[in-house]
Amino acid sequence: MSERKTRVRFAPSPTGPLHMGGVRTALYNYLYAKSQGGDFILRIEDTDKTRYVEGAEEYIVEALEWCGLKFDEGPHVGGDYGPYRQSERKSLYREYANQLVGDGYAYYAFDTPEELDEMRERLKAAKVAVPQYNAVTRSTMTNSLTLSDDEVEKRLENGDPYVIRIKVPRKEEIRVQDIIRGWVVVHSSKVDDKVLFKSDGMPTYHLANVVDDYLMKITHVIRGEEWLPSTPIHVLLYKYLGWEEAMPQFAHLPLLLRPDGNGKLSKRDGDRLGFPVFPMDWIDPGSGEKSSGYKEQGYFTEAFINMLAFLGWNPGTTEELFSLDNLVQSFTLERVGKAGAKFDLEKAHWYNQRYLRDKSDTDLAVLLQPHLAEAGISSDIDYIAKVCNLMKERATFISDMVEGSYFFNAPKQYDEKMIRKKWKDNTPSMIQGFRDKLSSIGDFSSANIDIEFKAYLESNDISMGEIMPILRILIAGVTSGPSILDVISVIGKQESLNRIEVGLEKIPTLSID
Ligand code: GLU
Repeated sequence: MSERKTRVRFAPSPTGPLHMGGVRTALYNYLYAKSQGGDFILRIEDTDKTRYVEGAEEYIVEALEWCGLKFDEGPHVGGDYGPYRQSERKSLYREYANQLVGDGYAYYAFDTPEELDEMRERLKAAKVAVPQYNAVTRSTMTNSLTLSDDEVEKRLENGDPYVIRIKVPRKEEIRVQDIIRGWVVVHSSKVDDKVLFKSDGMPTYHLANVVDDYLMKITHVIRGEEWLPSTPIHVLLYKYLGWEEAMPQFAHLPLLLRPDGNGKLSKRDGDRLGFPVFPMDWIDPGSGEKSSGYKEQGYFTEAFINMLAFLGWNPGTTEELFSLDNLVQSFTLERVGKAGAKFDLEKAHWYNQRYLRDKSDTDLAVLLQPHLAEAGISSDIDYIAKVCNLMKERATFISDMVEGSYFFNAPKQYDEKMIRKKWKDNTPSMIQGFRDKLSSIGDFSSANIDIEFKAYLESNDISMGEIMPILRILIAGVTSGPSILDVISVIGKQESLNRIEVGLEKIPTLSID
């Protein structure tokens, strides 16, 4: 088994947009495959037509592309083990269902929905906590174990609706070895006779999943914890189909929890918790309702992936910044925890900030330019790059830097609260003095402006607090932002002198009480 090439699959059902937990499952599969020099496969599990959602498969492919997780095989890239959509593999499964029936590991069941309800009611009345179709109850139902062979034959020939159920042994320990959880032992009395195949010719999840993992030579099944209860059925199927030797290793990933630790982060959380749960925007084809995505909110792929990787895994060091390639180098399933991982919005912001700061000013400028255009500002990349250089320390997202619109336009309004607080009778003369000084400076670098500014304060016995806030208001209109002397240097001498002049005229005419 150890000589087998590592092959893992991400196997979503196209029942809606991919949730960030699903992206993390895909990511861990990718990281594991790549760390082993193996293959990462996309398989679309679309056997349940009633839950099919238009556009979901395209969304999944696009979202994972945005994340940089490239598949080696899949419906959109092909491969030697296709087709990669279960609906296109339909004809394949019947043979295995028949084999199981022939070998006595599965049976036909003809029970009507009413008969199934009746059984559940009967068991509830008898105080059975979890009524199940199982090793005990199947002997009371309408199936090929209770009917004569002739009767079964007749019903099948008649085209009566049926399902094929797995015959779970009554008393047996089913043992599953999980890479993350160790041995998981489940008693067969807790497992019901799951439906494997339906008379419409469609397999259920359990049969299709196991058959495809086998046929696609999957070596490791890495999936969410919610699939752990299904695993005993899968283990039985490997055994009953004679594939025990080829059974993949299992790794069930911890849940993603809400920030307060109260429950699982679910698709239904949408934007309710103040952050997206989807990688990209999703518009529900039925209701038209929009849920926001990390991409459109301005997260960088690298930040999103780095943040997700740490929700359930850690490298065992204090290092936190990992590119996708670094993650591939460091990732092991052994370092994935069992306990649920809490989503932390501040951490997500922190990652984005870090990746933003690491970009060159020119790269940032290229990204900021369209946001500026939306705000009606046009400028050349070199100038925007200077702005980014000053704004990036404060920005979490590219769009935050639009706040620096005063680099491009003189303020139209002034922060009146600050004026009320800081504007004194001698303010205009202090500012005017500095303006005169500015107009005489030859070297307009921010370092030189800083020297001249300090010298001006010192020789006139003016404190920083007396002049700085008003100077900022005159230049930028607002009180926040990078050093105003840096701003002055970037917007240039003439523009700075103009703004001061205009402000000194305008502000005394404002009706500020
Ligand atoms: N189709 C299942 C899902 O939607 C796959 C579970 C598995 O990986 O076995 O997640």
